[in-house]
Amino acid sequence: MNVLLRMTRAENTAQYGTGTITLDIEEYLCGVVPAEVYESSHMDALKAQAIAARTFAAKRAMAGTVMDDTTSFQAYRYSLAAKSPRSRQAVEETRGQVLCYDGSIVDCFYSASNGGLTKRSGDVWSKHYPYYVNKTDEWDAAANVEKPTKASHGIGLSQIGAMWAAKNGVPYTQILAFYYDGTAIVGDYGSGDSVFPDEEAENKGEPTMKLTVNYMTRNDCYTANRKITPSGIMVHSTATPGIMAAAWFSRWNKSYAKGETDRQVCVHAFLDDKEVCQYLPWNHRGWHAGGTANNTHIGFEICEPAGFKYSGGATMVGYDAAKNEAYFRAAWKNAVELCVILCKMYGLNEGNIICHSEGYKKGIASNHADVMHWFPKHGESMDTFRAAVKKALASGGAVDPKPGPEPEPTPGTIGEGALVEFKTGTTRYYPGSKEVPGWVISDYYHRVTQVTSGGKTVTKGRKACVLLGKKVRKSNGSEEAGINTWVDKDVLSKVGGGQVKETYTVYTVAKSDSLWGIAQKKLGSGARYPEIMSLNGLFSTTIHAGQVLKIPK
Ligand SMILES: [Zn+2]
Repeated sequence: MNVLLRMTRAENTAQYGTGTITLDIEEYLCGVVPAEVYESSHMDALKAQAIAARTFAAKRAMAGTVMDDTTSFQAYRYSLAAKSPRSRQAVEETRGQVLCYDGSIVDCFYSASNGGLTKRSGDVWSKHYPYYVNKTDEWDAAANVEKPTKASHGIGLSQIGAMWAAKNGVPYTQILAFYYDGTAIVGDYGSGDSVFPDEEAENKGEPTMKLTVNYMTRNDCYTANRKITPSGIMVHSTATPGIMAAAWFSRWNKSYAKGETDRQVCVHAFLDDKEVCQYLPWNHRGWHAGGTANNTHIGFEICEPAGFKYSGGATMVGYDAAKNEAYFRAAWKNAVELCVILCKMYGLNEGNIICHSEGYKKGIASNHADVMHWFPKHGESMDTFRAAVKKALASGGAVDPKPGPEPEPTPGTIGEGALVEFKTGTTRYYPGSKEVPGWVISDYYHRVTQVTSGGKTVTKGRKACVLLGKKVRKSNGSEEAGINTWVDKDVLSKVGGGQVKETYTVYTVAKSDSLWGIAQKKLGSGARYPEIMSLNGLFSTTIHAGQVLKIPK
């Protein structure tokens, strides 16, 4: 695909003149990516920028639009195209990939910063696109704390947000999925296949809760604007029968200082059986605990159903547990899923979750009974709640996946029951995950307890993962409670033999493939493409669709 360009910058006109020229879109992108973001950015930020820029340009190329080399379209610098090898690698490894929505290439916009809130395009421009929605952008907000950046239109990808996220381990696929709601990455300029079908399968297991964001900007807690680094989550319930999540906005979006309300209170979110309403940024200091937990904990309220009263403080009178069971289960599911999302966002786990009454016992919250005055009526407790969060975290975020049949392990693969250890040099459980603590690698073997979830392979960061259960101390062989984490099979090796050594696999070249891309996909690094060349006796890097290549193991 070619783009039509008219150059205006001196360094570009010196090379191309001032008339309209055509340039291969991939070569063009090698001069756009380093002009739009820093060449030194994390590779996933460069790839996200490459796909966003390619999508923008492909749409215009197809319409026959002549672009210029300024930010009116996209910045292009000939001098950078030649001396930015990392940007070139990002372009090469995503060759042909564009963002599509409902089968069509999206009209792809991005900006330096969105000020912490992605914008619905119809609120900024007259035209609305369904993939631009209002939501908080914690990445952009965090990046702005490190280095304040002026926000512009705020539609689509925030460059500082993407760079911050990539630096913190978020893969480019997830960065793009966040900024372009409901889109897919499609090969061959939109005419090929979806690039990561396994990732889409994974997404089907992800939380389904509905989140709406509407900050209580009149509340004095919001205007106090103190930030925290969340290290825990506090679960509350409202003790106000029948008032649902959305209704709390008008009740609490008031200023005590201005005499609009007699309460000084604010919480990060309310949820019910239908939705989660976020009312404060997650890293904003809330007023929900009545104690020091406000400095550390995100707080949310579970709304209680109608049809009963309170007496003597925290005693529910006339509460019909059977009648309310369906409501309770739906609200419970939303609460678990919200905790999963917050845990992933802030590197927390179920052990960091307490309810208000537990906070009181720890001396970090006021004397309230929630939620232990309510959960037991449905046979639950905070322990069972934490167990549900733990289970959902292990299964990729979905609540209560149905267990399914597990395939027979084939010889040489890591099957259920296998004893494994982390390969030396491993840093993360899977691409984009938290870092693996050193002792997990050096002190222990691990027992594989699960190889699928709901009958499907579990993929994280585009890697097939297995669940590691019990850990086994290398020094004396004693078994202990394990790390219970899904881990990329490729960073594990079996202990005690049993591995079948295959010398190669085969791969059929697809239309938009390059050797670099195949090496990246199959060997984990594009730079390893000479290994494929030597195994196949290739003397040039030219390959063609349908060609069958041996891939080293
Ligand atoms: Zn409470």
